[in-house]
Amino acid sequence: MPLIEELVALLGPTSVRHHPLDRAVFSKDAGILKGEVIAAVLPETAQEVAAIVRIARRHDVPIVPRGAGTGLAGGAVPVDPGLLIVLTRLNRVHEVDEIGRTAWVGPGVINLDLSRQVEPLGLHFAPDPSSQQACTIGGNVATNAGGPHCLADGTTVAHVLAVEFVTAEGDIVTVGSEAPDQPGLDLRAVLVGSEGTLGIITKVLVRLTENAPDVATMLIGFPTIEGAAATVSGIIASGLIPAALEIMDQPMVEAVENFVHAGYPTDAGAVLLAEVTGTSESVAAGVEIIRSVAERHAPTDVRVATDDAERAILWKGRKSAFGAVAQVAPDYYLHDTVVPRTALVEVMSKIYEIGDRYDLTMLNVFHAGDGNLHPLVAFDSKEPGMLEKVQAAAREMVEVSIDAGGSLSGEHGIGHEKRDLMHLVFSDVDLDAQARVREAFDEAGMMNPSKVLPEGSRCFDASGVRL
Ligand SMILES: Cc1cc2nc3c(=O)[nH]c(=O)nc-3n(C[C@H](O)[C@H](O)[C@H](O)COP(=O)(O)OP(=O)(O)OC[C@H]3O[C@@H](n4cnc5c(N)ncnc54)[C@H](O)[C@@H]3O)c2cc1C
Repeated sequence: MPLIEELVALLGPTSVRHHPLDRAVFSKDAGILKGEVIAAVLPETAQEVAAIVRIARRHDVPIVPRGAGTGLAGGAVPVDPGLLIVLTRLNRVHEVDEIGRTAWVGPGVINLDLSRQVEPLGLHFAPDPSSQQACTIGGNVATNAGGPHCLADGTTVAHVLAVEFVTAEGDIVTVGSEAPDQPGLDLRAVLVGSEGTLGIITKVLVRLTENAPDVATMLIGFPTIEGAAATVSGIIASGLIPAALEIMDQPMVEAVENFVHAGYPTDAGAVLLAEVTGTSESVAAGVEIIRSVAERHAPTDVRVATDDAERAILWKGRKSAFGAVAQVAPDYYLHDTVVPRTALVEVMSKIYEIGDRYDLTMLNVFHAGDGNLHPLVAFDSKEPGMLEKVQAAAREMVEVSIDAGGSLSGEHGIGHEKRDLMHLVFSDVDLDAQARVREAFDEAGMMNPSKVLPEGSRCFDASGVRL
């Protein structure tokens, strides 16, 4: 039976989208890459996912898992024509253990919905990507997502206890468990951040975090971005790890302020959004530490939110930053690198120099506390040669980050976007080792091919001789 007919027989016609319009809609994620979708299928259970994988295998068709498609690295885009398995209908919170503070959730649960659902229990899911109103837990696990509050709490890998996934053979397997210190290899951690290349996540046991009794959110303006970055380094050097430390430069502050009207100081060279959580005593002490470190760098404005409404609007500004850029230009390319915190000032000045040299409109917003940079280039892709110029600048920005001891991606993953830059941080031996792990999970190479590892990564035979 032809592929589409077999899939329709399994799922019904409304769950198999292969009309040209559907295929076009599903051919992109939130990045700039466009792929080719044979069909997008929307299963509702892990058993259906397993059956789809077995059908795809019989037809020798590559598989690409997809959550909400908010990824920025082309991870959910079929580069080689492929079958897209969309997991958004596996969106049940199966079980919440209030005492153990864990929950089994479907991969299609939206990040913010999970936190809202467990809010009455005084709990939340700590990783909070800025896309949390739309992105899914499955996507978060597959990319090891970060977010403003991952500075103190750690990225997604620290909040996942077990993962149920469908293997490339179509079996349903669980790795990890509720019990701490599992013996054997930690395959749970291997699955987290695997970007759909090792299996399709169908259920996740997540750790839930207690809501802090008290919180203070501060917005501090500085004449220059260097002052804001030096304040971040000073705060960390003081021994305080705040819940969040986010920086926005002047062009980004202006775009956000026009969009959200959060009262951000548009005359400041940069703003630092800082948050401390804990008991009221520790929060008050944290605010004083941040204030005193900031004062060494000539702040133009220090504001502490006085209530939840003010706190919410300050965060709305930060979390709407990428949306705000739509007023500046029709397209944007968002970079994602990570550098040691001590290198923030040096790397930022090189990034501004690159932006100026390529004559690009650039806005910056970043998770400064963990050294995660997000230079965002606003442009019009209809302008001839513009995309190539943006991509050439992007490569230089990645290179200066790596030269400063940083890495390719702080949180968005490698996907297809940075696949061919992997050799900048990994040797042939490293890449071969990663390719072997991948082969162990997916011998036939049908799980999200052309992603993460560059062509030719598997380059040594069993005796260590180059293939
Ligand atoms: C405005 C905006 C702000 C963002 N802010 C942040 C941020 O602060 N931090 C951050 O980390 N990221 C951020 N991102 C990027 C993105 O939201 C995250 O990478 C998110 O985790 C992707 O989730 P998703 O459900 O949209 O996954 P998708 O984009 O659908 O997929 C992403 C990757 O995960 C794989 N995948 C998805 N679901 C599964 C599954 N069930 N099983 C196996 N593989 C799967 C896909 O194959 C792909 O490789 C932002 C994106 C936007 C557009």
